[in-house]
Amino acid sequence: MATFKEFRNKIKPNWCPGCGDFSVQAAIQRAAANVGLEPEDLAVISGIGCSGRISGYINAYGLHGIHGRALPIAQGVKLANRDLTVIASGGDGDGFAIGMGHTVHAIRRNINITYIVMDNQIYGLTKGQTSPRSGEGFKTKSTPEGSIESTLSPLEVALAAGATFVAQSFSSDLKQLTSLIEQGIQHEGFSLINVFSPCVTFNKVNTYDWFKDNIINLDTVEGYDPTNRLAAMTKLMETGSMITGLIYQNKEKKSYENLVHGFSQEPLAHQSLALSQADFDNL
Ligand code: SF4
Ligand code: MG
Repeated sequence: MATFKEFRNKIKPNWCPGCGDFSVQAAIQRAAANVGLEPEDLAVISGIGCSGRISGYINAYGLHGIHGRALPIAQGVKLANRDLTVIASGGDGDGFAIGMGHTVHAIRRNINITYIVMDNQIYGLTKGQTSPRSGEGFKTKSTPEGSIESTLSPLEVALAAGATFVAQSFSSDLKQLTSLIEQGIQHEGFSLINVFSPCVTFNKVNTYDWFKDNIINLDTVEGYDPTNRLAAMTKLMETGSMITGLIYQNKEKKSYENLVHGFSQEPLAHQSLALSQADFDNL
């Protein structure tokens, strides 16, 4: 069985020292090892942004896609070879701005993949512009007088779209983050894990200390029931989405693969694509 070190490769990440994305990478590697995967069992598909580099730093199959398009690629990979564990990853700009249409429909579709969003509430790669996750009043080069748009709550959107697994964590809490990624991988359906992953270079508001002061860990909330969708939505709305832990899980709904007629047969990647004469005759 592979250890988490075997999910490392020799490439040194070029994230800024202190960037939250380092911990997300470590958590993915630990979770993959903890659930018993080998590197050849895993595919990590990423979008564009600082966070998008993550697919290049993990010893597994990987593809660094285009902006906002990690999910279409990841879903295609999974449908072609459902034996693979597929993780899609990217940032809040990637997944909740240009890629939001894909995110909502991937949630509805409920293909068995895990989507990890590194949410730093800013565009880091392009040197600090306001993202859909930035707070109102947030000042950047793109909003010098402060953002006047509402802050998006992607987890409320996810619940409204019929998500079967919604979780949130903080890159400083490696134990919780690793556990949630393990649960997301093991969930039979689409799992969304939003991770507060501070950008230490461009976001001087949503810092590690700010998150520590504002996060409510659901593990400390007595009686919280992650199977209750209404309670999950209420808790998100009450707290401004500042909760971490397993927010909602529906184990009853079948994944897309289990509902598509004929999909229980051999994965496409294992089928011969050559047509026989009889196939032509029957066309
Ligand atoms: Fe991380 Fe921000 Fe540096 Fe990008 S710019 S690597 S998000 S700290
Ligand atoms: Mg971002």
